[in-house]
Amino acid sequence: MTRKTRAVIDQAALRHNLQVSRKAAPHAKQMAIIKAHAYGHGIIPIAQTLKDADAFGVAILEEAIALREAGVSKPIVLLEGISSFDDLNLVRGYQLDIVVHHESQLDILESVQDGQYKVWLKMDTGMHRLGFSSEQFPTAYQRLMNCASVTKPFQLMTHFANADDRNDDKTTFQINQFNTSLSNITDTESSHVCSLANSAGILGWPDSHAQWVRPGIMLYGVSPFVEGLGADFDLKPVMTLSAELISVNSFKKGESIGYGSSWQCPEDMAVGVVAIGYGDGYPRHAKSGTPVLVNGKRSQLVGRVSMDMVTVDLREHPDAKVGDIVTLWGEGLPVEEVATNADTIAYELLCSVTNRVKFDYINA
Ligand SMILES: *Cc1c(COP(=O)(O)O)cnc(C)c1O
Repeated sequence: MTRKTRAVIDQAALRHNLQVSRKAAPHAKQMAIIKAHAYGHGIIPIAQTLKDADAFGVAILEEAIALREAGVSKPIVLLEGISSFDDLNLVRGYQLDIVVHHESQLDILESVQDGQYKVWLKMDTGMHRLGFSSEQFPTAYQRLMNCASVTKPFQLMTHFANADDRNDDKTTFQINQFNTSLSNITDTESSHVCSLANSAGILGWPDSHAQWVRPGIMLYGVSPFVEGLGADFDLKPVMTLSAELISVNSFKKGESIGYGSSWQCPEDMAVGVVAIGYGDGYPRHAKSGTPVLVNGKRSQLVGRVSMDMVTVDLREHPDAKVGDIVTLWGEGLPVEEVATNADTIAYELLCSVTNRVKFDYINA
């Protein structure tokens, strides 16, 4: 018997969520962000489902190559760009767009004579991770303008640090910083297309939409904001993670459950064992009380998460039996809620599902 631990990926929900992004930013093109194995959903099937995207964004070269080898022909943007001359050769061979965020990348581009590279020049407006500061930006801009191997006009971009909090002014500051810095460079604005917005920018900051938006987490049905749920924006969950009950047992008041005996039964009660654990990517830090659905009805974790199993409270589920289905997140149970109970964010939970879980793609 094979284990029934599954991640069901709803492709209709994915397509719907891309439409939500289009409606929110109707004048912008959509660069669907599918890095990290499409936030854990499977990069190839997700790209194949997102036929309506205008381009894809990935973090690393290996992801882009996998897409090209699977026959994906849309523009693909390497968000971290290149780090060597060999990378640049691959970029040329596979026809990829590159983000240029550092001097070392300008050096590489200037060292080649031929090729026509499509470039996104990145400004650091306050994230302080990748990009040229507003002081360095004009020089980087001129170097690219003078670089024969770069297609003109090239694209311009920045990335937000705090857009997940709609009460934080930093996003407005970053938008202004970007626009001001560009207006200081002669001959820009009209000729260059720009991209600022991630999911939070798309849903929370219309001023940031520009010509291209970069939806990530919202495509997977998850709210990009610290508070609230995907459903608040008409987003639908794409991944539903579920597993089977493999044991149902009764314990006396005061008996403890699982490693470290961290949870004691407050009364005589039934406890179910579910065939999923941190070896499948379920977060080990999910606390007792984290919600699950047993046959579609709410229950909660009791005791610590083990590698292959979790234990759940069956006091309100007298009919639960071995073979019944327990949902860990997705349809009927927002992953945001589970993330809060595990002191993390939904992004991390989705990315962490391991390949021991069987992925089923539905609603093609
Ligand atoms: C990951 C990423 C995004 C998407 O962010 P979400 O918060 O998932 O929407 C957009 N732009 C860049 C540069 C990224 O790295």
